[in-house]
Amino acid sequence: MSRPTAVTIDLNAIAHNLQVLSDIASPSKVVGVVKADAYGNGVIEVARKIADGVSMLAVAFLSEAQELREYGITKPILVLQGPHSQQDIIDGAELNLTWMVHTHWQLKAFEQLQQDNFYNASKACKLWLKFDSGMHRLGFALNELSDILNNYEALVNQHTVLTTHLARADERDKSNAHEQFSAFISIANKHNLSLSIANSATNIDYPEARQSYVRLGIAMYGANPFEFKRQDLSLKAVNILESQIIALREVASGESVGYGGTFTAQTNTKIATVAIGYADGYPRHAANGTPAWCNGKLIYLAGRVSMDMLTFDVSHLDEVNIGDTVQLWGDKLPINKVADAIGTISYELMTRLSKRVPRHYLGN
Ligand SMILES: *Cc1c(COP(=O)(O)O)cnc(C)c1O
Repeated sequence: MSRPTAVTIDLNAIAHNLQVLSDIASPSKVVGVVKADAYGNGVIEVARKIADGVSMLAVAFLSEAQELREYGITKPILVLQGPHSQQDIIDGAELNLTWMVHTHWQLKAFEQLQQDNFYNASKACKLWLKFDSGMHRLGFALNELSDILNNYEALVNQHTVLTTHLARADERDKSNAHEQFSAFISIANKHNLSLSIANSATNIDYPEARQSYVRLGIAMYGANPFEFKRQDLSLKAVNILESQIIALREVASGESVGYGGTFTAQTNTKIATVAIGYADGYPRHAANGTPAWCNGKLIYLAGRVSMDMLTFDVSHLDEVNIGDTVQLWGDKLPINKVADAIGTISYELMTRLSKRVPRHYLGN
């Protein structure tokens, strides 16, 4: 038998979450964000499951869009970073892509192709224009908006969407989000064009920012998008990471566990060794005390994360045996709790699971 470590991807949970989030978003249209292999959940399986429930799919760059088309996914695709070269636009020409454009050379490249009659009645130029409302990462300055619409009039059509991305909508205090939203909306609203501002957190927590399109990623994958706890979200876990106990031992008081001896037993301690490690994407910097779940209880990491193994203190379990399942995160233990303990976010935990972890799908 092969190693009993796998991630279960519950596609029915994705469909459930998408329904919950679409109900919140309504009447805004939903863009299902499937970049980075659908946040590590498998882009083809996820795209097939959600295609009927979204207006568009979104990926980060061209090759991610090409993969979707190779597998026969026909939904419109939004490419969030836009083209990285003029060749990207040409290579994507037959793929029915919408490019999110954030910088001047991109606009000029589209303009040039337009003048060269690259576009026609059956092949439209579809652009979302991205503006920097204060995140200062990508996007045109807001005071360029009307000049861009004037100077590139030929590129503006019924597909054009003005868009921005808020830096701090996941915080409880919405003052920064409100500043960025107001800066954008006061300028963008002057034109009769569709708008898109919201990601998962914004969609749930900031109704005014929903606008024409919401762009949903992490919440669809079942994780709380906020940096603070939320009890009111009926999202279901999608990404369920499990392994098994492959060894059990009693460690005497004063003995240490693992590389570097970073965990020392304060009393006689039962240690379970579990068949998953940093080569699988479980973060090596996870500290002693990081939770997992076994036999109905939380258990806590004891000793450094190794390449292929983790060690947990299981002294408090009534019953524990070799072969028992350990859930690293999932329906028994929210991924956000584990991410918080490790000092990261659910996005990173999901996207960094390695190829070595087999995926089992439910509901495909
Ligand atoms: C990834 C991404 C999203 C989705 O964000 P979530 O927080 O996962 O909902 C939305 N918009 C843009 C521009 C993105 O890059």
